[in-house]
Amino acid sequence: MIRINENYTKLKASYLFADIAKRVNAYTAANPDKPIIRLGIGDVTEPLPPVCIEALHKATDEMADRATFKGYGPEQGYAFLREAVAKNDYTDLGCAIEADEIFISDGSKCDCGNIQEIFSTDIKLAIPDPVYPVYVDTNVMAGRTGANVDGRYPGITYLESTPGNGYVPSIPSAATDLIYLCFPNNPTGAVATKEQLAAWVAYAKQNKAIILFDSAYESYIRDPEIPRSIYEIEGARDVAIEFRSFSKIAGFTGTRCAYTVVPKSLKAFDAAGKEHSVHALWNRRHTTKFNGVAYPIQKAAAAIYTAEGKAQTKALTDFYLGNAKLIREAITKLGLSCVGGDNAPYIWINTGTDSWTFFDKLLNEAQVVCTPGAGFGKCGEGHVRISAFNSRENVEKALARIAAALK
Ligand code: PLP
Repeated sequence: MIRINENYTKLKASYLFADIAKRVNAYTAANPDKPIIRLGIGDVTEPLPPVCIEALHKATDEMADRATFKGYGPEQGYAFLREAVAKNDYTDLGCAIEADEIFISDGSKCDCGNIQEIFSTDIKLAIPDPVYPVYVDTNVMAGRTGANVDGRYPGITYLESTPGNGYVPSIPSAATDLIYLCFPNNPTGAVATKEQLAAWVAYAKQNKAIILFDSAYESYIRDPEIPRSIYEIEGARDVAIEFRSFSKIAGFTGTRCAYTVVPKSLKAFDAAGKEHSVHALWNRRHTTKFNGVAYPIQKAAAAIYTAEGKAQTKALTDFYLGNAKLIREAITKLGLSCVGGDNAPYIWINTGTDSWTFFDKLLNEAQVVCTPGAGFGKCGEGHVRISAFNSRENVEKALARIAAALK
């Protein structure tokens, strides 16, 4: 008799986006003359930069010619992209990362979700709350967490991000083995300082632990004091894996390209305490279960590292940050406290009421859709996330409506 992986039955049903859709659909059915504006989504709205489109066309033409056609490429990614990433995102920043430590993939979601496979099922986890749900759910599926009790799993040490700690969690008093960190953060938009990251690196070293550093929103950092990579912290090469994505820097959410950095100096241990190379394990996993990103997509991704590409992606992220600034200013003017929006495309509002009540108020009275914070974890209660991914016209319209509704 075929049986299921019963860990899947322990997953908390994710009703968040279904619930949002249900409420929005009910509202629009009852009020067809009141168009709504969506500021809940984490998806980009602007088209790909022209350099990427040009590269895509050119690479597609190469695929049409026997002399330049490409079949299977290297699973880890073409050298032209790995080298461009290593140089522009790391060595130019002073971080010692080599091209063969970069693994190109079709998304950070897959990488953040798949990486746990190479670690033992009986390790101790530290995961932020609120959080991008992939970290928790993939560990539930793997059987590391135990059953859900009142919205939480006993096998997870929750790293709570609250108004009290400025939404940057403190280091747990107990030892953990696999630590998920995400800065700039989704959903809070908070960033971590060099000192804060250095403390995490020291904690990981002390506990022979590994940090999984999700840096999907790195391109939104504008404060020169804020580290763009965990490898800016001394010693991080020995304790951290970093995830980056082309989704939010260049609008690749529908095009799909990302990368994961696994330094060769990173070690993990077997039950007998013997050291193993994490790079070798991930290489084995990646080459066994993944067959590479399409050549034209990798060409499009590499185009962002040209001078023109850098200018175009900067303009794109500047545009969304312009929206974020308007949102943050308008919300602050209304007397609500919020974080994010200065080095991240998300604004995290402390609503002073429960998140669904605030969501309903914005939907019914301003026809604006946000994301209730409770959907990202227990500590998200009392908050909502507003995203800067929309047109300027829609953001301005939405803010005027929110101001009228909350006055
Ligand atoms: N990590 C975080 C924190 C995200 O918010 C997202 C997407 O929203 C991802 C990873 C996934 O990125 P990708 O589009 O590369 O799968």
